[in-house]
Amino acid sequence: MYPKTCAECGGRVHASRDAIPFEIRGESVLVEGVDHGRCNICGEAYLTLAATEQLQQEAVRLLREAHGLLSPQEIRDIRRSLGLSQAAFEAVLGVGAKTVVRWEKGTVFQSVTADRLMRLIRDRPELASTLTSGQLYAAPRGCPDSTGASPARAHG
Ligand SMILES: [Zn+2]
Repeated sequence: MYPKTCAECGGRVHASRDAIPFEIRGESVLVEGVDHGRCNICGEAYLTLAATEQLQQEAVRLLREAHGLLSPQEIRDIRRSLGLSQAAFEAVLGVGAKTVVRWEKGTVFQSVTADRLMRLIRDRPELASTLTSGQLYAAPRGCPDSTGASPARAHG
């Protein structure tokens, strides 16, 4: 639980479910409905660890929806439709270890780039094997543009 007395100003801390601002990657979102303690003088919010996790999860959900990104369940469905483990799907997408784990848990949300890549793979599952076969890395060789030229551009 939270303290009865505010550590900042000595004011009384009361139970609250008021909106709490939360920032992710420079974007702020107001999260409502998280039980917490609120100082009646300075407004300082006191959260339990569980409430903090709930706050983050809810902020992630709100921002993901605001950006129209795939939900954790949709990501899991795409991965399972390919018959891939979380680690294998991370290799396909070229993202770090445990990244897909966190997306599927809803603790963080994916970039727009990763989101589009997953939609592309959902619609054209054969791309998953292309992405891990090394073809994409071999094609741009010899191309002076090393800033991420696609094979299509390299040949076109
Ligand atoms: Zn206070």
